[in-house]
Amino acid sequence: MIENTDADGPRYHADRAMWLEVFAGIINDPENLLRTSCPNCAAVPVRVAFIGPPGASAGSGLLWCDTCLFGISISRMNVPSEFEMISTSTPVGDILEAASIPDFEVIWE
Ligand SMILES: [Zn+2]
Repeated sequence: MIENTDADGPRYHADRAMWLEVFAGIINDPENLLRTSCPNCAAVPVRVAFIGPPGASAGSGLLWCDTCLFGISISRMNVPSEFEMISTSTPVGDILEAASIPDFEVIWE
């Protein structure tokens, strides 16, 4: 757990290992996506997006929570065929819009 100190005093948020565990659970069984809660604020569900060549089995992955706006980014990972891949030829600004990806805080450690 990482401690942040802000105006409201210390608060804690899930570290990267906890987010990775959540992501692994979704990759292992994509049906988990709709029932997986945020490791940070417990909101259900979390959101994912994958970016890579259409039809490829690997790409970049994003996992985030629309409620607390924390999440992680993984540069290369296996992507189950159940998930739609956003083409790498899509301009970055359009990727964010296409998948309704908010400006979330990426947890790196
Ligand atoms: Zn959350």
